[in-house]
Amino acid sequence: AKTHGKNSYVGYRAEMACQARDEFHLRRELGKALETEAITVYYQPKYRTSDGTLSGAEALVRWHHPQLGLITPDRFIPLAERSGQIDQLERVILDNVCRQIRDWRASGLTAPRISVNLSAARVSDPQLPDMVQRHLDRHGIEPQALLLEITESVSIKGMQETIGTLERFARMGIDVALDDFGTGHSSLSYLEQLPIQQLKIDRSFIRDLGPAMPQQAAIVSSIVTLAHNLGLDVVAEGVETEEQLHYVVELGCDEMQGYLFSRAVPADRFERLLGGMRYG
Ligand code: C2E
Ligand code: CA
Ligand code: CA
Ligand code: CA
Repeated sequence: AKTHGKNSYVGYRAEMACQARDEFHLRRELGKALETEAITVYYQPKYRTSDGTLSGAEALVRWHHPQLGLITPDRFIPLAERSGQIDQLERVILDNVCRQIRDWRASGLTAPRISVNLSAARVSDPQLPDMVQRHLDRHGIEPQALLLEITESVSIKGMQETIGTLERFARMGIDVALDDFGTGHSSLSYLEQLPIQQLKIDRSFIRDLGPAMPQQAAIVSSIVTLAHNLGLDVVAEGVETEEQLHYVVELGCDEMQGYLFSRAVPADRFERLLGGMRYG
């Protein structure tokens, strides 16, 4: 920016200062939100491609700010990672999800397995499995009720620590999914090194599925074959159209989620999908 003259440099400085102020402000606001009910969890249903039945749901965090309205996680997760608030945020989310599962059960509903996203910054933390176990214990929930989603970027740094954490989860009986597959910079070779059970194909691959781009179907097909050869289940995310649905089924994905079926919705709306699955 410096080379574009004095004004733009000043503008650049002003913008930086403004961003820093924003970040500072938002960080303080997040601190307050974490102490109240302002952080909630929405649920996006996942379905089996084989018969279209509900297979689970992904927990997606939402922040309801009194003035700013609904703030999406893309805005505050990275902020929380920078500020160190991500630990507390993840505890709040896990507590929320575990309590919700317990409440559903208490009212006679069978909750499907709920996927919880873990921040890439946290997966090499050796304390993480104990933290998860504490939340399960507090609400009397068995580990199989959860599935944890980690992203590819995780495994590059701290590979050994990450494998250690994932092995702990495996011993606890918690399955782990590799999220956003195909968007990372890493090679395919570490896929077999990671003790995971599920692979989620990033929605950028699903978006371009169609007769106009046959090579895209070839790529997805190869990913599915690779994953199945490694014993992993494959989830297609970001299914938005009937055509994409057709491809996802045809190419052998095991599960799917996306706006075609439902957006992430508040717990009480998700609950209606569980109505048909009452005990006894
Ligand atoms: P993600 O884990 O890849 O989650 C999927 C995102 O795609 C969600 O956005 C979801 O609402 C959106 N999505 C689902 N179906 C479709 C579709 O058909 N089309 C399109 N265009 N989008 C779709 P959301 O909820 O805004 O979350 C964004 C990201 O924020 C997540 O990406 C995840 O990385 C992060 N995140 C969300 N909740 C949590 C959380 O509880 N903990 C952590 N650590 N990260 C979270
Ligand atoms: Ca996810
Ligand atoms: Ca994803
Ligand atoms: Ca993502």
